[in-house]
Amino acid sequence: MTRFAKKSVSDMAFFGGQPVFDEIKSTSNLVRPSEDGFLNYCKTIFETRRISNNGDLVQQFEKRLCELHNVEHCIATSNGLWSLIMLLKAIKLKGKTEVIMPSLTYRRLADVAAWVKLTPHFCDVELKTMAISRETIEPCINDNTAAIVAVHSIVTPCDIDGISQLAKEKNIPLMFDSVEAVYATHKGKPIGGFGEAEVFSTHASKLINGFEGGYITTNNSELAEELGLMRKFGFIDVDTVGMLGINAKLNEIHAAMALAALDDLEAQVERNKKRYHKYKELLSDFSAVDLVEFAEEEGERRAFKVIVVRLNEAWGLSREDTLKIMHAEKMLVRPYYAPPLHMKKAGYKTITGDMTNTDQLKDNHMLMPCGAFVSEEDVEKAASFMKFVHGNLSEIKQRLDNDGKYEKRRA
Ligand SMILES: *Cc1c(COP(=O)(O)O)cnc(C)c1O
Repeated sequence: MTRFAKKSVSDMAFFGGQPVFDEIKSTSNLVRPSEDGFLNYCKTIFETRRISNNGDLVQQFEKRLCELHNVEHCIATSNGLWSLIMLLKAIKLKGKTEVIMPSLTYRRLADVAAWVKLTPHFCDVELKTMAISRETIEPCINDNTAAIVAVHSIVTPCDIDGISQLAKEKNIPLMFDSVEAVYATHKGKPIGGFGEAEVFSTHASKLINGFEGGYITTNNSELAEELGLMRKFGFIDVDTVGMLGINAKLNEIHAAMALAALDDLEAQVERNKKRYHKYKELLSDFSAVDLVEFAEEEGERRAFKVIVVRLNEAWGLSREDTLKIMHAEKMLVRPYYAPPLHMKKAGYKTITGDMTNTDQLKDNHMLMPCGAFVSEEDVEKAASFMKFVHGNLSEIKQRLDNDGKYEKRRA
């Protein structure tokens, strides 16, 4: 049973009581691979005296990722963002000006377009998957379309078949931002082998923690070669630069961490799954808050890394108030991709398509505490707190209103 013990609204940390947690519970993965595993890989760095530039560990890492994603090529890089930029630069149709991408997504995705001098054209997402689909992309296609960046949402892979078919019919290059779908499968086939290529991140907050890092997977040998050159300044031999490149190499110490994280991956997914199922069990009888469920079909892999909930009308509090009172309890809950990109100020031109579903989803989704530092008991505490809040809704609302007036008086 939970040790959670708030008896009255005055016990809430926001109103001066003791917080539910002694230390901050974040929504970030923060998984740490075994220290010994990491240090063992590090020995190779000293043995081979190779620190960066396609060293032994980077090559091992790429090989392991080819197996995980069942693809022919993997290009390890310094991070996810530069991987997206390199890939978009490589695949975009020359002479065209727009790239189609969702708005309800990773907060810096539109910058990728800006770096390759394309205008982001934001499209809507499906209500059910919260991801883009053939239906939401199609109205945004025009004579200027240079490429499509499809993004898998945090819980569900997007409409891979529909989008791939559309891209083929219209002859538009398609790439995937698959950062949130690293471990997932689609009809039994691992994410990683769809479209022209797919991009992943191994930042410390992601499923595979490699401090910082990223990689691109593809079955296209020419594209793989081009990306491999692009990540090392475009050097084709010692002194010759064959193309415009950047420095996006992955170093050996980051590869060592990422390899240790890969060794722990299956065990991590088991831990994530337990946490997720705990949330599912505890929220199943609570109609005010819905867990956004992972599609757990037979034979499909899911990583269960992030916990997303929907605050229903019955919840009765705005998301902003909810964040405020939960932060006070040391639950660092976060809004789901807020604000969407079409509502953000950008220093470059953007085009916004229909946003009917995005507008419906943008204000009521939130990430719950999860990851390596959240135990099943912590999940119980978090869920009980939400139920406590709901059980005392009218009093809390009243006190929040008064608090608002007080804030205004002070200002
Ligand atoms: C984190 C993230 C990225 C960027 O990865 P970095 O390695 O941090 O640059 C891109 N897309 C999505 C969906 C992400 O979550």
